[in-house]
Amino acid sequence: MAAVKEFSVQERLLSLCKLQRIDSKIGEIKKLRGELPMEVKDLEDEIEGFNTRIQSVNNEIQVIEESIKEKQNIQAEAKDKLKKYEKQQNNVKNSREFEAINKEIELNELEIKACDKKIKDANLEKDEYIAQRELTEKQIEEKQVVLGQKQKELKKITEETEKEESDLGKKRDGAANDVEPRLLTAYDRIRMNYKNGLAVVPVERDSCGGCFNVIPPQRQSDIRLRKKMTVCEHCGRILVDSELNDSVQL
Ligand SMILES: [Zn+2]
Repeated sequence: MAAVKEFSVQERLLSLCKLQRIDSKIGEIKKLRGELPMEVKDLEDEIEGFNTRIQSVNNEIQVIEESIKEKQNIQAEAKDKLKKYEKQQNNVKNSREFEAINKEIELNELEIKACDKKIKDANLEKDEYIAQRELTEKQIEEKQVVLGQKQKELKKITEETEKEESDLGKKRDGAANDVEPRLLTAYDRIRMNYKNGLAVVPVERDSCGGCFNVIPPQRQSDIRLRKKMTVCEHCGRILVDSELNDSVQL
């Protein structure tokens, strides 16, 4: 079993300072990338949404085309029947037969007309969907252009900072290892509370380097002694003396 190392307060403070320095540097790199990763993700999501829309429009068009085909078949059948009845009309034997055939002709003519109207309406609906699809395709094209630019920009920044970031990541793991878990949790929690991500700050000009409130002389001398952990009573950040802070090297 590995022996649990006991750290002195000074060692703890130094490790925390180091961790803070690394995290601040990583934060700077992330700031450089800014909103780009999120913008890229948003654009990708939007394009995916447009593609889904096109897919559903295509499905609608398919349904309409099938119904047009169906109507065309019905119409063709009616046309055949009409021809047949028209031929029969020339050979009728009596007026009753004539009436019956005439009725059939009328019915089939109506059917043909009705199919015409339904096909025409369906084609109009189909045209609307096609226009919708074209519009969406155009929107995709526009978004793709912007996405391409953003991706390029992000790639450039990432390439420039990749090595540095990965080095810092390794250093961070090493530094975090030197901080006891309980302290690390406290450190991370304080960092999360502040937009600038500062959890460990030096005393500068008699004030807290985080919130700039004045620190009483007695506390300042406690901090300089490095015998116990001191947090700012205003902002809760961990305070170190500037000499210790400046001694940190990555
Ligand atoms: Zn403070």
